[in-house]
Amino acid sequence: MSVIPSTPTSTCSAPAPLLHSRPRVESARTEGPALPAVVGAELQVPTLSGGTTYANLDHAASTPALVAAKEAVDRALETYASVHRGAGHASRLTSAWYEQARAQVAEFVGARADDSVVFTRTTTDSWALLSSALPAATTVFVFASEHHSTLLPWGDDRTVRLPVPRSVEEARSLLGAALARARSVDRDGERLVVVTAASNVTGEVWPIEELARVARVHGARIAVDAAQLSGHRPIDLAGWDVDYVAFSGHKTYAPFGAGVLAGRSDWLDAGTPYLRGGGATRTVGEHGTSWATGPARHEGGSPNVIGAIALAAACATIARHREAIEAHEARLLARLRNGLRSIEGVEQLSAFGDGHDRVGVVAFTVRGLEPSLVSQVLSVEHGIGVRDGRFCAHLLVDDLLADARVTGDTLPGGGLATAVRASIGLGTTVEAVDRLIGAVRELVEAGPAATWSRGDTGWVVSGNDPRDREVARPW
Ligand code: PMP
Repeated sequence: MSVIPSTPTSTCSAPAPLLHSRPRVESARTEGPALPAVVGAELQVPTLSGGTTYANLDHAASTPALVAAKEAVDRALETYASVHRGAGHASRLTSAWYEQARAQVAEFVGARADDSVVFTRTTTDSWALLSSALPAATTVFVFASEHHSTLLPWGDDRTVRLPVPRSVEEARSLLGAALARARSVDRDGERLVVVTAASNVTGEVWPIEELARVARVHGARIAVDAAQLSGHRPIDLAGWDVDYVAFSGHKTYAPFGAGVLAGRSDWLDAGTPYLRGGGATRTVGEHGTSWATGPARHEGGSPNVIGAIALAAACATIARHREAIEAHEARLLARLRNGLRSIEGVEQLSAFGDGHDRVGVVAFTVRGLEPSLVSQVLSVEHGIGVRDGRFCAHLLVDDLLADARVTGDTLPGGGLATAVRASIGLGTTVEAVDRLIGAVRELVEAGPAATWSRGDTGWVVSGNDPRDREVARPW
């Protein structure tokens, strides 16, 4: 069914916010072909010296919304109604769009014709679903370098954890050896490898096709965490020859609460329904329940149709602008990495080495400065958004920072080894990258401009702290 949406008659109008942002017209943020516009590209944020345009270097956490995703939501809201069970026109329209969104996402991930595409909330949710649907006696193989959402959902009793590899060859051989060992003990059990496509700490791109080949040799399935890839590089379930992929809308320029699990339907159709309730059943009788197969089996309750439509709009837009997006990010990433490299005492975290392919995520330490202070200074003095910590990948960060921890370089105050992470995307400009590099250089050479001290709940700055400024609620 193909339906033409009506032109929106009104757009959302929010109360006048203290922090101004407006959608940006399609434009190039680096030289080259036009990039799709994001909402809030001109966001003004308060700083110690007044205010400035927000430098968004935090895309690895969440990306801003694409204007195209917001516009699709605005249009869909005009006729918003229940999904799947309504007879009215608006319901039929909304239901059709929900299924068309599923088809759009299937295309985006390069799904095979018989793959299932299930709308979830996030990557974390997708893995929880897959974990609950695994056949009994499945052994799961994960590298310690995974994000906790990908490391932990399988349960300790059926997980084989592999060490953090320091090269592609080591990743391949660690996995091959572990799978061979498991096979020699239990020939018949199911085996699932779960691995990230790109690290949320180092940005390093993992050798998915090679690891898929290793998995196949040992009769294992493979699931790919594409949370850090989906907004930046293509996903290709069929081309990579992998079984499942998961990703999140809020990291794919569609922060409306939808995520995806896509892949082989056999385990999903046989597995325990993830959300038991309306929509997930065929029939319910006195003596038992017959559960649906297909995506409906795991999408009980009223699905997040607005999230699905936003995500589909983002997928379509990203696919249309693929070349421009990759060129923009490659240019910014090179600038960011070279700039940081030129500053004395700044170390970038890496598992696979300098020359390895990576998306726009760079975690770094600054000799003698606590990462939490660095990120606060960047925000409060310069209007730059980065984050510090261990990025829900404690084992990886511990491993990569082991040397720094021993020398105490990163931790004058003791405590956990952490880093600063800068990550780029469509909301990042050349100016933002240059501002970050300039600010880190200034910090290293002259220290913070303001006076900072450590309080009970974090760093305290003297003067008119912009973090205390009240902002009107958006509702
Ligand atoms: N995997 C990776 C690589 C991630 O970066 C993240 C989010 N930081 C997740 C999984 C979890 O994603 P979500 O919070 O959307 O569930």
